[in-house]
Amino acid sequence: MLLAETSEIRAPAAAPHHEEWREVAACRGVASSVFFSPDGERGRARARREANARQICEDCPVVAQCRDHALTADEPYGIWGGMTEADRRRHARRTRTGERR
Ligand code: SF4
Repeated sequence: MLLAETSEIRAPAAAPHHEEWREVAACRGVASSVFFSPDGERGRARARREANARQICEDCPVVAQCRDHALTADEPYGIWGGMTEADRRRHARRTRTGERR
């Protein structure tokens, strides 16, 4: 889950209660709008926002735990573990079909 401490935060429906990895996440205190797209966002604005989020994730000490959580919980929205929504959909499709890469 994105750990931004704003009221905009969208808590994942399946978030377990005890996930200590969240305590040391690089996104703690970062606005959720960096990780979650506003309605109607497209094109360059979306690409720019996603690049900014991924840059934060690159330096995150819990990127693997975050990514695992998002994939396991099938998170539909936002950047988690450096993966966009499209990245996760691709990953899920490849996993289903056994496609490699
Ligand atoms: S990997 Fe990214 S979204 Fe996940 S906890 Fe770290 S900074 Fe936040």
